[in-house]
Amino acid sequence: TAKSEGRARYVMYDADRNARQAARYALAADMPDALDRDEFTVVYQPLVSLADERLRGVEALVRWRHPARGLLSPDSFIPLAEETGVIVALGRHVLQRACAQGAEWARRFPDNPVFVSVNVTVAQAREPAFPAEVAKILADTGLDPRLLVLELTESAIMDADGAPLAALDVLAASGIRIAIDDFGTGYSNLAYLRRLPIHILKLAGPFVDGLRDPASVATVDEQIVETIIQLAHVLGVTVTAEAVETRPQADRLRHLGCDTGQGYLFSRPLPAAAMPPLLHNSGPALTVR
Ligand code: C2E
Ligand code: MG
Ligand code: MG
Ligand code: MG
Repeated sequence: TAKSEGRARYVMYDADRNARQAARYALAADMPDALDRDEFTVVYQPLVSLADERLRGVEALVRWRHPARGLLSPDSFIPLAEETGVIVALGRHVLQRACAQGAEWARRFPDNPVFVSVNVTVAQAREPAFPAEVAKILADTGLDPRLLVLELTESAIMDADGAPLAALDVLAASGIRIAIDDFGTGYSNLAYLRRLPIHILKLAGPFVDGLRDPASVATVDEQIVETIIQLAHVLGVTVTAEAVETRPQADRLRHLGCDTGQGYLFSRPLPAAAMPPLLHNSGPALTVR
């Protein structure tokens, strides 16, 4: 009967969910040891100036080289790391790696200094010791603070009551730049850009998705993107578009005044060893227009 079928399906679903939960716990429990075993690696995705499509910076993106499950993407373990709190240690590890790498590139390729952009979660940024830790990593690695960008989401920059993250002023005063990641996915309110030391706005993928070539008449979505870019510029904030996948999108973004682009059109995230050719010769253009 329909009723017993429904029940059977419910039981199956439940067993499935339990198995998934068990797998999640196992993964979460494994993370501290995986950190010690050095299974987390960092890849670097190029960020280009949209005017010339040359490399200006890289975003550090973590990967887990899991011995049994292969290469895991951050979406499969960052939320777990946040739940267990191991994100604080993992985040420190990524920051340390990315800063050391950025400092090495700056020494080897002094004509083409590229910045390193590192993702920071709420829990990490709220640790009272966070600014001191960042300062220590910069001192240990020798990375110029002006070559470090910290990416925070809107909900990390501002809590539910509208109180800004306490560490922002200290970090920004040291020359580090702050980026708002995934802008437009939450409750966006550009007003705080005026009050807070924020330097870069990263326009979320869904905005970029809807863009068509600059010859076509602007849709409402395209006008919204244009307005965001103009307002950001009035406030002294530069704009980076995420997930740029096509030539028309890049062309439209350039026409709308967007400063920087990141996405598969320019490059996938790369292992550090693949970067030097892009850093030589003041950086070749990453695309052929
Ligand atoms: P995110 O900070 O917004 O990073 C951009 C994500 O978009 C990356 O996914 C990148 O590979 C992907 N992407 C780049 N170009 C394109 C494109 O053209 N099209 C599409 N569809 N996607 C593109 P990834 O590496 O899987 O990272 C996912 C998220 O995990 C990141 O989103 C970030 O929130 C988080 N994450 C990554 N590394 C770290 C880390 O070290 N610490 C923390 N706290 N979070 C991290
Ligand atoms: Mg990011
Ligand atoms: Mg993002
Ligand atoms: Mg994201």
